[in-house]
Amino acid sequence: MTGPPEGPLPVVADWFEVTELDHGVVRITEPHVEPVVRANAWYVRGRRTDLLVDAGLGIAPISDVIGPLDGHPLLAVATHSHFDHVGGLAEFDRRAIHPLEAKDLELAADKPTLLTAELLGDIGDELPEPWRPRGRFLIDARPDESFDPVAFSPPARSATELVEEGDVIDLGDRRFEVLHLPGHSPGGIGLWSERDGILFAGDAIYRDQPLLDDLPGSDVTKYRETMRRLLELPVTVVHAGHDPSFGRDELIALAERYLAGGG
Ligand SMILES: [Zn+2]
Repeated sequence: MTGPPEGPLPVVADWFEVTELDHGVVRITEPHVEPVVRANAWYVRGRRTDLLVDAGLGIAPISDVIGPLDGHPLLAVATHSHFDHVGGLAEFDRRAIHPLEAKDLELAADKPTLLTAELLGDIGDELPEPWRPRGRFLIDARPDESFDPVAFSPPARSATELVEEGDVIDLGDRRFEVLHLPGHSPGGIGLWSERDGILFAGDAIYRDQPLLDDLPGSDVTKYRETMRRLLELPVTVVHAGHDPSFGRDELIALAERYLAGGG
């Protein structure tokens, strides 16, 4: 993204970028959002139930891109309650989160979230280049003419179910185990498929941007335990909360770098 555009933000026809990956995993992201809050949402088709892991900012309906992909009942799981992961959650009837962040999920609503100054206040203005947002807004386009980035706040949403360590999400033909991975946030979870070696990691670990362990609710000691746990996991691919997916070698390098104090 470049500097702040003059005048109203341009309207783009396709708000989401949808990429089909191996093992029936679909990555959904929002290319017109600043990288620091450009989260991944992950869609997995199951025989009986479909799974959505995180739901984007809620700027445009993510169900519009999921709808054509299938028509199954869907469980939307939030890896944690940060606003860049849960804005679209309210579109779905079944919404799950870890109990430690159920309250935060409700509080996250009704807060202006697209003003850069608000975000930088929250994360302490410590983001290194090139991740620090430059413009007034955290987006460089709008999904339609009527969208107002000043007034925008995602709709209220509370969880309809709670998931915690050891729970199993069964899609009919594939299963994901819930791993409690605190550190970035108190109730951060991962979803782990031992059969495929797939880990949906949320913001516990991602590839490119600095890992954030100094947000409200972060805990460095717990984060270190989470990293040690991830090192033991026989993953094939990690689908993380931000940035592209990566394999086990990179997971090990990232976790070891964090444990060595390099973030
Ligand atoms: Zn987060």
